[in-house]
Amino acid sequence: MRKALITGITGQDGSFLAELLLEKGYEVYGFARHDSWMRSHNASHLADKINILFGDMSEGVDIATALQETQPDEIYNLASQSRPGESWARAPETLMINGMGAIRLFEAVRHACPKARVYHASSSEMFGGSCSGPQNELTPFHPANPYAAAKVYAHQMVRICRESYGLFISSGILFNHESERRPLHFVTQKIAYGAACAALGIKNSRDLNELGHPIVSGGQLALGNLEIARDWGHASDFVRAMWLMLQQDKPDDFVVGTGKLHTLRDLCQAAYGRVSLDWKDHVMSDRKLVRPLETGQTLADASKARKVLNWEPTISFEEMVGKMVDSQIERLETRGGR
Ligand code: NAP
Repeated sequence: MRKALITGITGQDGSFLAELLLEKGYEVYGFARHDSWMRSHNASHLADKINILFGDMSEGVDIATALQETQPDEIYNLASQSRPGESWARAPETLMINGMGAIRLFEAVRHACPKARVYHASSSEMFGGSCSGPQNELTPFHPANPYAAAKVYAHQMVRICRESYGLFISSGILFNHESERRPLHFVTQKIAYGAACAALGIKNSRDLNELGHPIVSGGQLALGNLEIARDWGHASDFVRAMWLMLQQDKPDDFVVGTGKLHTLRDLCQAAYGRVSLDWKDHVMSDRKLVRPLETGQTLADASKARKVLNWEPTISFEEMVGKMVDSQIERLETRGGR
């Protein structure tokens, strides 16, 4: 039985990936912070099927011990301070987890299990605002926030470890992917939540935004820049691409995205449209929610992933938004989230 270790298993992608690997017959190990695992999280429903090793990516000894104990065939490094907007206020911590954490893992692989295949989570945020056309594996990076800068550092170390030590490490330059499991502080989930509140007649929400105000206040959802455009897909499609990368004969970098661009305005339209409402009646713009420097328009040219990995997204933008809104309605109705 093949063994896989996932860092960041409590996150959105970690939980979808664990489900996929279990379906494929892997013995799945998760690397998670103790306190996070003890709370309810995205992988709670898998607790009886997976093995957990406790540790923190900022402690080199934790990840080295996890690899020595499990000797995995495949490692998926998803652990990250994954909120670009928040990385301004938490820049040193972001570099420590996203940059140094990755190096610690690669070093541990080199010493504990050099034959293991490693997937590393890079990000389309690395492209920043430098280019207008679709981005592929050859597009230069121009990070626009501390999160993206730390991701560029780790991405370069993937190549360096590949070339210097012959390690099998593949980088997935994944474009935005969302799901019902996205935390509420991501703007996509906030919009789904706003639409769910509007559908249920909730004028003042219990959940708060990053300014400490109700996400929905006086029947209005406050958002930053609505003109932001992104290439959004569903996380379950994207974790399949991660697995495919480790089934290839050699390690490589792959851009993964749908190749379709939508603005936050489109997202509002799809979300409120799901519950037959006009978003313009329920959404307002708040300058305090605009980032100091926005990542520009990112659009994936995933032709290499389509050709080499035979990867295609299966869930459309509208389906993805619909699933998110339905799930927020269910959450508010059944878990007393009002
Ligand atoms: P996520 O839901 O925020 O999950 C991040 C995971 O990392 C969580 O399990 C978190 O655990 C863990 N983590 C954070 N700091 C840690 C630390 N110091 N030690 C151990 N674990 C730690 O993110 P995601 O959306 O699943 O994304 C997965 C990866 O893909 C991330 O690296 C992200 O940057 C990258 N990525 C995501 C997207 C996207 O659109 N989703 C796009 C491109 C790249 P806790 O519960 O303890 O916080």
